[in-house]
Order: sequence, then C-alpha cells, then structure tokens
Amino acid sequence: MINIKFPDGKVKQFPEGTTALYIAKSISEGLARNVLAAKVNGEVWDATRPINKDAELFLLTWDDKDGKAAMWHSSAHLMAEALEALYPGVKFGIGPPVDNGFYYDVDLGGQVLSMEDLKKVEDKMKELAKQGNTYVRKDVSKNEAEKYFKEKGDEYKLELISELQDGNITFYQQGNFVDLCRGPHIPNTGLIKAIKLTNIAGAYWRGDEKNKQLTRIYGITFPKQKELDEYLNMLEEAKKRDHRKLGKELEIYTFDEDVGPGLPLWLPNGAVIIEELEKLAKKTEQEAGYKRVRTPHLAKENMYKTSGHLPYYAESMFPPMEMEGEKYYLKAMNCPHHHKIFATLNPSYRDLPIRLAEYGTCYRYEQSGELFGLMRVRSLQMNDAHIYCTREQFAQEFRAVNDMYLKYFRIFGIDKYVMRFSTHSKEKLGKKYVNEPELWLRTEEMVRNVLIESKIPYVEVPDEGAFYGPKIDVQVWSAIGREFTLATNQVDFAVPARFGLTFRNKDNNPETPICIHRAPLGTHERFIGFLIEHYAGNFPLWLNPVQVAVLPISDKYSDYAKKVCRMLNNCDIRTLIDERNEKIGKKIRDTEVKKIPYMLVVGEKEEKDSAVSVRRHGEGDKGSMSTESFVKLVTEEISRALNV
Ligand SMILES: [Zn+2]
Ligand SMILES: [Zn+2]
Repeated sequence: MINIKFPDGKVKQFPEGTTALYIAKSISEGLARNVLAAKVNGEVWDATRPINKDAELFLLTWDDKDGKAAMWHSSAHLMAEALEALYPGVKFGIGPPVDNGFYYDVDLGGQVLSMEDLKKVEDKMKELAKQGNTYVRKDVSKNEAEKYFKEKGDEYKLELISELQDGNITFYQQGNFVDLCRGPHIPNTGLIKAIKLTNIAGAYWRGDEKNKQLTRIYGITFPKQKELDEYLNMLEEAKKRDHRKLGKELEIYTFDEDVGPGLPLWLPNGAVIIEELEKLAKKTEQEAGYKRVRTPHLAKENMYKTSGHLPYYAESMFPPMEMEGEKYYLKAMNCPHHHKIFATLNPSYRDLPIRLAEYGTCYRYEQSGELFGLMRVRSLQMNDAHIYCTREQFAQEFRAVNDMYLKYFRIFGIDKYVMRFSTHSKEKLGKKYVNEPELWLRTEEMVRNVLIESKIPYVEVPDEGAFYGPKIDVQVWSAIGREFTLATNQVDFAVPARFGLTFRNKDNNPETPICIHRAPLGTHERFIGFLIEHYAGNFPLWLNPVQVAVLPISDKYSDYAKKVCRMLNNCDIRTLIDERNEKIGKKIRDTEVKKIPYMLVVGEKEEKDSAVSVRRHGEGDKGSMSTESFVKLVTEEISRALNV
C-alpha cells in the first residue's frame, strides 16, 4: 500500500500502482468524470498513470489551468488524428496548448487549407472524439522511436527525437494515431465535447525563417457545448469592444509614424481619463500614507548595474545614449530611482514604513512584432510605489496593499479576479532564488495568510517566484469574461541589500528593509485598454472625458445653453455644447454615439424656468429639473461611484 496525501492534508492508503482516476472514483463517480489530469508531487501527470510510491495528489479539472492545458494538448493530438485520416502522408511539427486552446504545425506537402477544409477536419475530430479512445502512454527506446518515424517519413519528429535522451522518450496513442510526446493527456477523447478550429496561419519550423514554412492550425475545445457557445459569443463581443477600434472612435489615443511604434499619443479625451485615474490614485495613496516623489526618465549605466538590470535585463531596455563620456539609459523601471531616494532619507526604524509613490514613465524595448495597441507598448506610465518596511511590518503593509486592490475592484466593477501567487523552490535556493530559506518561508507564509484572511481568490504556483522574493500577478476578467493580467506585486528582500539600503533599528544598528513593489492600476496604457473593453467605451460618469452635452433646440437658445455650460464647467463638470444647426433629434443621436452620459436639452420652456431637460445615455428621458438640482445629481452620482 502507498500513502496518498490530499490538498486538505488528509492521508489515505491505496494499493501500489493505483491511478489518480481510480482514486477520484473512490471519492465519487461525478468527480472522476471531471478529472482531466493530476498533479503528482507537483508534476502534472496523466490521470491514468500508475502511482507507485507515496505521493501528494491534486486532481485537475477544467477549473485548473493545468487541467485545461491537458485537455487542449490532447485536442491537438485529436486534430492530428483527424488530419492524418483526411490527408494521408501529412507530417507533424509540434502541437502545444496555448492560452486559449491549442495549435499544431503541420506539413501538408504544399496543399493549402481553406476555412471549409477546416470544417471537415472539425467534423472528423467530432467523430473520433465520440469513439472515446483512451490516450495510452508508452515508454520507447530511441531506436524504436526513430524506426517508427523513419517508416512514417516524418523528418520533423526525427529531428525532435535526435535531441532527446534515450530512456526518456514516450509515445502516446489514441485510436490509430501515434505521437511522440511527453504528455500529459486526458483519460480519453470522449471528454472533448465541443470543438472549434479557429484559424490557419503560416509558421516556420522551429520559428526560424531559414526553415520550411508549415501550416499552423489553431483550435479550442471544451468539455461542454454551452461553454464553447459562450466563448464564441465572448469573442464576437470582444471584437466590438476592441480597444483599438473604440480608442480611435472615441478619440482616446493614436500612434504616429514620426513619433514611432509603441509610443502612444494621448488625445484630449485620453488625457482626461489619465488625469481622473491619477486623481483617484493620488487620493487613495495619500489616505494610505504614501508620499509622492518625482524622478527623471533616465539614469547612468552604473545605477542599472547596481540594480542588476544590466546586463540581465538589457534586452528589454532602450539602447544607451552617450553624453560627456557616460552612458545613460531610459528607465525601464522606477525602483532604482526610488531606492536612491530612500537612501537619501537615511531613516530610523521610527520612520518606517516609508511608502514612495510616483506615476512613473518607463520605457521598454518590445520587438515591433510584439507591439499591440495599448496592451504592448514601448512607453508606459505606471501606478508605481515602493514600500520599505521592517519584517515585523510586512504583513500589515501587504494587507493594506490588498485592501487597496479590493477598493479599486469595487470602483471599476471588476467582479472576477484571481491573484497568482508565485513562490520559490527549495532545491533552487542560491541559483534561481536568493539564498534566504528562512525569509522565503516566512514571507510566503505571511502572504498566504493575508490572502486567505482577506478571502481573496488565489492560486499558488510553486517555483515561479522572482529571484528576490515571491510575486503576485493580478489577473482580472473584463465584463465580457476576457482575462487580463493587470499588475504584478513583488516582495523584495535582495535588491535593498544590493543598493546598500538600511534603516537604523532599535539597537541603532543598520538593518536592511523589505521592499514591496506594487502597482494596483498597472500602467495607464494597459489599464485604459482594459477599461475600454470592460465598459465597451461607456465610461462611468466620473471617468468619462465629456460628462454632459448641452443641446439647444435652436439658435435662439444658444445663449442660455452657453450659460448652462459655463455654470457646469465652473462646478468641475466636463460639459460641451452642440451648437450645430441641426435638428434636436440628430443632436441627440450623435451624442448617444459619443457615449456622453448626460444630455441637457434646452429650449424656450427651460430658459423661462431656468431649468434643463435631462436625458441619461442608454436610459432616456429623466424629466426637467433646475440646473442646481442637476449639478447635485451629477456630484452625488460621482461620489457614490468612488466611495464604494
Ligand atoms: Zn501530447
Ligand atoms: Zn519596483
């Protein structure tokens, strides 16, 4: 018998050679039907692979990232099986899972696939899935592996095998299809209930343009048809909400050839959004005891050597410029500048925690192929701050940072979020991770406790921490369910030491502080890109570049309209006036298109009563009221939105 330890700490005995699937069945048939793979001692395995010694077991379902990956990876094999049935002689490159589905690179011998052809492949996959064939793992020798693919005539697989070590090679077979693969896979093809092949593209073998171009076929699969339908709807909706399309229509930002790729120009509407976000961040941070600093956009080479950015991060930085015999770099991060400020403050333990905040502009070199609207850019303005604290203060500071996140989530109506908590690996201390075993364990424990206490949904990812401490990536879902990584928090116990940062402790001895890097609103670029999709361009009143449009019914009321407009602007309500010589119906329709939250229609009656007729975007007529009452309505709505 072997001992199987479950995530809740309970241990149960099972016969040697048992499988995750068998164990799941012993718990419940329902659970077993949902098991896609399993984590055995931290490694993702087939749920059908025999477990021969004591192990920690975590069953993976569709709800787990690794469960999805196993499903999608297995779907790539299923697609290959379908392709082989339809196009005998097809050769296969690699077929991995990706963020949303999977792909396989294939050599169809010059044949070009159309979208109709894909439909046939899809239908074949459905037919094969219904057979419910099991994915069978088999250890093979290098000789055997080479013999198989030589006979099949697949030079791509042969090239892959030539790089593998004998004794370390496995095949997987489902139905008639055999593939070279490390796995893991789902138990059988019957679990794949909904299939959609989404795209065809060209891809050079091994990403090298000197090699042959293969056909890359993308697809996605789900365990339920309903989930596929929802996904396709979401994609359709996302297209309408695309931040590049709406960003242009709503005149938020633009790019210019002469300025350069990845360097967004914020138009007046975008600048208003930026300023409102900064106002919110500054107020929130001031209330939380942060102090604001300002730092230049560049620094000498030497500072980035101290910080370790050079040479390790050099590829992501703009190349240096030379001045007076010195090299200067545009900053890719604000931390080193803030560390220098901390050093100047020369604090004692009584001054800690010190929280230095700045909406800092950074520059990062992204390859032109990687640039994407506001999501991947070369200049970014970051909602940055560094908190320097003692070890005793750490838990409280970290909790406060989390509370700040939760407050922002409420303000922006972000209902779904997950913190990805990346920790260290004991074996890699001193190599991948700074060699502070005690500090790692203690800090991770504190982070974990805070996450549990604050009831924040989180997943723990072993062995993905940063070099100098655990890392928390914040993933959020937009209103239509698309996932974005907005921000990263890092706990840092090494860099303060690299900079020689200390405070005087109670015994008047120098001690190194812990530094928390945090940026809850990420960068303006990515966050506004997210918000455009999240709100479909219908920004809430407080954030909308124009809050009110005054629409005079005719020229005759233009003076009164101007008076209303002036009064609102004096009350800090962003108001414009539509003085065009157009029918009021057209003015209303045009204002709707611009997604301006409030419209005030003014004519003879309104002028006589010193009133305005109010229409709310998307809601319609709200009746007539005095201008003062309208100001009150607007200010109260804004205050409600920001104090949640
Ligand atoms: Zn595989
Ligand atoms: Zn930082």
